[in-house]
Amino acid sequence: MRAVDIIIKKRDKHELTLEEIEFFVRGFTNGDIPDYQTSAFAMAILLNGMTPRETTDLTLAMAHSGSMLDLSDVVDLAVDKHSSGGVGDKTSLSVLPIVAACGLPVGKMSGRGLGFSGGTLDKLESIPGYRVNLSTEEFKQQLKEKGIVLTGQSLDLAPADGKLYSLRDVTGTVQSIPLIASSIMCKKLAAGAQAILLDVKTGLGAFMETLDEARELADLMTDIGKLANREVVALLSDMNQPLGNAVGNSLEVVEAIDMLKGRGPEDYAEHCLYVSAHMLVLGKRAGDLSEGRLKAEKSIADGSAFEKLRILVQAQGGDVSYVDDPSNFPKAEFVEVVMSPRNGYLSEVQARSVGEAAVRLGAGRAKKSDSVDHAVGFIVHHKVGDKLEAGEPLFTIQANDETKLTEAREAVLAAHMFSNTPVEKLPLFYN
Ligand code: URA
Repeated sequence: MRAVDIIIKKRDKHELTLEEIEFFVRGFTNGDIPDYQTSAFAMAILLNGMTPRETTDLTLAMAHSGSMLDLSDVVDLAVDKHSSGGVGDKTSLSVLPIVAACGLPVGKMSGRGLGFSGGTLDKLESIPGYRVNLSTEEFKQQLKEKGIVLTGQSLDLAPADGKLYSLRDVTGTVQSIPLIASSIMCKKLAAGAQAILLDVKTGLGAFMETLDEARELADLMTDIGKLANREVVALLSDMNQPLGNAVGNSLEVVEAIDMLKGRGPEDYAEHCLYVSAHMLVLGKRAGDLSEGRLKAEKSIADGSAFEKLRILVQAQGGDVSYVDDPSNFPKAEFVEVVMSPRNGYLSEVQARSVGEAAVRLGAGRAKKSDSVDHAVGFIVHHKVGDKLEAGEPLFTIQANDETKLTEAREAVLAAHMFSNTPVEKLPLFYN
């Protein structure tokens, strides 16, 4: 078999066999197939799609490209969550401490930013010392002892996805239902999850712009999970506007801390409580969603969720003084508050434009080897439906470069659209 023939076959819209998919995945995982062929393969899939059968084969081949974690000796029921990616989506940073505080041990392996969407690992690394490269042994040990882990994909788990993911980020091949479904599900299967909560985003700031596409992705991932004997619940959530107010690595960590202190933005807090309630039900720590939600709320009110975040940060070597006092996070050199240019109702805060502007400020990567600037980003002060007066704060920019500051101001201003008549708030979740 030759990699080029498999690329050509997919380019010409033919269905690949299990053997071809396994050959390709094995080849790029062990380095026999170079990055340029893997990128071409990803592009052919993006352009021509894959059948559910091909996607399942790709998922299982990537899941088995490294070790398969077994957590049965550490937790009674391994519950995991995954978001399909969005702008300002810092959900894991609050939800993991909440559910862990409610007695559900959670160990999650997260990813880096992808395209315009931020990544939990990049956010966590804004806490000095925080280690995102735990070994499998360390992962299990911490899960057993502390009941919470939030780290990077360990190198021996689904290494195929690690390679493909970083190539997709910089080759315009993120937005593909089979590639996203296989990327998410192979990691969950390899990381030992028995029950999985999927937060599938839809809208202008999501990889799936329409509700139909998001539903297709959710159904595909649910089917893959079933085939692999896992319990899967998929939520469809709005990503037309950023989630919460903060977009940018350390800014989002601060907002997640605020949420755990009971003072996060309303939409973000609601989102986290709903996701937490689902995880508690999946993990059999709550009989139904309302009990799950009550428990989640209580963990915030009594400070136990915040304490779990401290325990997490300390366990992974992070400087907990940043969690205790978020004003320790370094500010960017330029901090500018941009005022509303007019009166009216906000009709759009286009999440993708805000996400792309954050990447251009340095919060994300343009190429694989780029480093990330943790301090830069935005605080959007308003949500769709809000009534605004000209001259009141619209958003704040944190930048470390004057030219980029100017560019960001223009881009994020253009991302805010106004209407003269009242506009309905956006829903948080869709049915
Ligand atoms: N999250 C992932 O893990 N992979 C994707 O492809 C997109 C979002």
